[in-house]
Amino acid sequence: MTTEKLALVTGGSRGIGKAAALELAKAGFDVVINYAGNTEAAQKTVEEIKALGVQGEAYKFDVSNVEEVNKNIASIIEKYGRIDVLVNNAGITRDDLFIRMDEDKWNQVINTNLNSAFYVTKPVVKLMMKQRFGAIINTTSVVGVYGNVGQANYSAAKAGLIGFTKSLAKELGSRNIRVNAVAPGFIATDMTKDLANADEYLKLISLRRMGEAADVARAIKFLAVDGTYITGQVLEVDGGLII
Ligand code: NAP
Repeated sequence: MTTEKLALVTGGSRGIGKAAALELAKAGFDVVINYAGNTEAAQKTVEEIKALGVQGEAYKFDVSNVEEVNKNIASIIEKYGRIDVLVNNAGITRDDLFIRMDEDKWNQVINTNLNSAFYVTKPVVKLMMKQRFGAIINTTSVVGVYGNVGQANYSAAKAGLIGFTKSLAKELGSRNIRVNAVAPGFIATDMTKDLANADEYLKLISLRRMGEAADVARAIKFLAVDGTYITGQVLEVDGGLII
């Protein structure tokens, strides 16, 4: 299979990842999405990608499982030959007050939201170094910058992603690989649909609305494509939640 430019979006079947996949497809990328279990949503997203006139494919694997990651990234590379843009976006929440948070909730979130980025990025960066080209965007969160009650696990993972982003930017810049992060605030997706006190949060947001997945997707596309002299940055996409 020949591809001129390929984007890989983890957790690309729904929410922010799906919107990023479509935005990159609009920019002319062939797009491979990854997902965990919801095949129906993934297939629908692939159809929407293809409707934009580019190639699209979904790979089901658990980003927190290093063997599954290695096997699937190897087969993506074998099939398409290149990966120009990687969006490390797959993520989960398992919220609880710290005092009640068990090891399971801690480990699930650290494995899925942080260790996954290490697993996925490693084989992709090896390829990008050979290409002497690449853009990596990590989906962190405002919570990784400022912390949040009930989210010690999630904040720690997202803060870890910020350190990861900045360190890789320094290590890989000389190979023409840029590494940035987006830090969304409150975005209307499945992840936030049961958010308690949503009205209270709205009062704190300068734009007085929750963000849409497409708002974040445009920032991801900007960092992937247009931000040619931007690396090691964390772009907050939060409607002015924290200024
Ligand atoms: P979402 O709607 O719940 O979608 C999550 C996506 O990640 C789905 O595609 C899901 O696949 C995939 N996924 C989950 N666990 C996975 C695993 N172990 N392996 C592979 N894929 C997995 O979430 P979202 O709101 O779009 O969030 C996307 C990212 O933005 C996350 O990293 C999240 O932490 C971050 N974020 C979100 C917000 C917000 O307000 N929504 C704010 C800040 C940051 P399936 O469909 O198969 O389940």
